[in-house]
Amino acid sequence: MQSKSLAAITAETMAACGVSAALDVSGGMAVVSPVTGEAVATLAEHSVADAEAAVALANEAFRSWRMIPAPRRGELVRLFAEELRKSKEDLGRMVSIEAGKSPSEGQGEVQEMIDICDFAVGLSRQLYGLTIATERPGHRMMETWHPLGVVGIITAFNFPCAPWCWNSALALVCGDPVIWKPSEKTPLTALAVQAVFERALARFGGDAPEGLSQVLIGGPAVGETLVESEKVALISATGSTRMGRIVGPKVAARFGRCILELGGNNAGIVCPSADLDMTLRAVAFGAMGTAGQRCTTMRRLFVHASVYDQIVPALKKAYASVTVGNPLETPALVGPLIDKHAYDAMVAALEEVKELGGVIHGGERQDVGPDTAYYVKPAIVEMPEQTGPVFRETFAPILYVMKYTDFDDVLEQHNNVGGGLSSSIFTTDLREMETFLSARGSDCGIANVNIGTSGAEIGGAFGGEKETGGGRESGSDAWRAYMRRATNTINYSKDLPLAQGVVFDIN
Ligand code: NAD
Repeated sequence: MQSKSLAAITAETMAACGVSAALDVSGGMAVVSPVTGEAVATLAEHSVADAEAAVALANEAFRSWRMIPAPRRGELVRLFAEELRKSKEDLGRMVSIEAGKSPSEGQGEVQEMIDICDFAVGLSRQLYGLTIATERPGHRMMETWHPLGVVGIITAFNFPCAPWCWNSALALVCGDPVIWKPSEKTPLTALAVQAVFERALARFGGDAPEGLSQVLIGGPAVGETLVESEKVALISATGSTRMGRIVGPKVAARFGRCILELGGNNAGIVCPSADLDMTLRAVAFGAMGTAGQRCTTMRRLFVHASVYDQIVPALKKAYASVTVGNPLETPALVGPLIDKHAYDAMVAALEEVKELGGVIHGGERQDVGPDTAYYVKPAIVEMPEQTGPVFRETFAPILYVMKYTDFDDVLEQHNNVGGGLSSSIFTTDLREMETFLSARGSDCGIANVNIGTSGAEIGGAFGGEKETGGGRESGSDAWRAYMRRATNTINYSKDLPLAQGVVFDIN
């Protein structure tokens, strides 16, 4: 048993990150750790007026930040990555305290921040435009990229810091100030990250304007202020599809730009030729890791009838033996659900599938710590067909397993859900693999072969289609969303030929 209270460990960790804000504001917003279900801090909440003031300050910051050369902006992100490396353990612990992740997964999230910072530093010298062939003699045509404006970043509880960094590291090198509205369930990690960022700012020197990176503590109302403000050029919102259905139209109505990173209903297909040992390990991590609370968690598994009786008993065994426990005190692989609401949603989904003929293995609540904490054994459910809750994302560790015989039919079933985030095929058959990755294959933003659905690297563009929102962030050319594009045509001749041969002679 720990000798110190979780609140004391939280306060110590926050102090180690450099946070000086009061964590015990009377009447403030309670921050509850899923590890024990107890409040570890109470924070002052920002008002709508505070959010409006933050937007005004960020717009002022934009005026000067956009004029700083991009490689110099990259230097700030480089310093930030250095500070993140120094605080990796402390920030990782905050992720474990607030989101219930294992130390390895908590620190992995911080590593992801470091990786995207390194990527963004290189990018700060590669914000390339094109030179384009022009049909007019004595002309040159090119494309230039300019800073866009203030970026509002709204994040979900299950990744308390990495998605902010996927956005902010790119936004900062692209010349955009950022305002972060973290989940009301995980605001402490955001404050800790901001303190680490401020250390980098202090080392960077005077040309970083005030208000370059701000954090707003609060719930949806504070987020909506950013969403509705015409002074926020880009909203990048990570969270449920329900949230995206509200945010997307509001940003569209004011012709703002939006990156939506929403829920998924990710599946794997296990083909007859699959390497079953590898498949077992990939599915176990994909479905049970982070207690099933990743946007990329594997939620559906289609298994070919010829290998069903080999892989499913092995999976059931892995599920039965997985360790569930307090991530701060034990080496358990599976930590808590975020709260009672998540537990109730899991129970309701399991009751519903039982009615529909599902055979449930696991899923029971575990006696870990006080009653206020919600630990569960991950559930594997053998389903006769894709039906009921299988069609939706229940944010808990439930894996629905279904048998298939026909490859074309299973591809149809795979794509026949709202979410379009991540997908996997397990096969050594070249035709199946290439078909899965082809135009008639997986319709997800992420399509993998012989690895699970979760655990993406920062180098690729991250995001998904359909109800996942269509946004892309992190690697590849995702940076373009944070800049505005101008097409420039320069006439260095003494004539004025018009495009398409149009004649408009005023003499
Ligand atoms: P949520 O939708 O409840 O909240 C996410 C964020 O949106 C929070 O900061 C919340 O305050 C804010 N918000 C809610 N309503 C809002 C509104 N009307 N206006 C502005 N802001 C609003 O999601 P959650 O429970 O924190 O996270 C879990 C969900 O997020 C799952 O569906 C998961 O799949 C998804 N998710 C997606 C990705 C991705 O990259 N696709 C990553 C992580 C999580």
